[in-house]
Amino acid sequence: MPYKFTFDLSKVPRFFFAEVTRIVYEKKVHKTVGSALQDIISKFRIQEATGLNFSDAVQLLEDFVDMEARNLLEKEKFRKAKKRALFLPHCSRKYMDNRCKARFKPSIPSYICAHCSSDCLINRAVSIAEKKGYDVYVIPGGSCIYKILKDKRYDGVVGVACGEEVKLAGEALSRMNVAGQAVPLLRNGCANTFFSIETLMHVL
Ligand code: SF4
Ligand code: SF4
Repeated sequence: MPYKFTFDLSKVPRFFFAEVTRIVYEKKVHKTVGSALQDIISKFRIQEATGLNFSDAVQLLEDFVDMEARNLLEKEKFRKAKKRALFLPHCSRKYMDNRCKARFKPSIPSYICAHCSSDCLINRAVSIAEKKGYDVYVIPGGSCIYKILKDKRYDGVVGVACGEEVKLAGEALSRMNVAGQAVPLLRNGCANTFFSIETLMHVL
């Protein structure tokens, strides 16, 4: 389910995300970081940079913190996973219309990237992950994950998505005892979305 607001954190300095991660580490229990998050939102002028109101900014960052905390908890299990898959969101394709030459295969269900544009985020992510031995899926929504995981058994899954989608997928992975690692979208909006390819490479 998408957020009720749009955001774009692609221009926020990388240091900001490192700082959020540091807070998670230092406070250990991520539920106690509420006031620290409020401070960091002011310090990095997140409202001015994104146009988000304060409560939306807090919700967004709480989701980032939850995601990071969950990544830390699952890291060791994920490290040992042998059969791995990467799930990418279709909204990060360079084009959402027929200029994208990916074919959608409902039987999987996934788009199959045709590598038509060298500067397409999905193209880069698919190439990097496949070289590392991942099965890669470019999916139009979270419900596709359940079908794919039922059909194919994976020990470890990396997912790129916005926070709400990651939360839902994380719950499903826990139930299926699959180790998960999440990479957040830094710009949402369900089209022309953006994630950090460096962060993805680090996680893979
Ligand atoms: S590189 Fe792949 S995902 Fe990107 S626009 Fe081309 S076919 Fe679509
Ligand atoms: S921004 Fe992308 S991942 Fe998030 S709900 Fe929209 S289509 Fe799905």
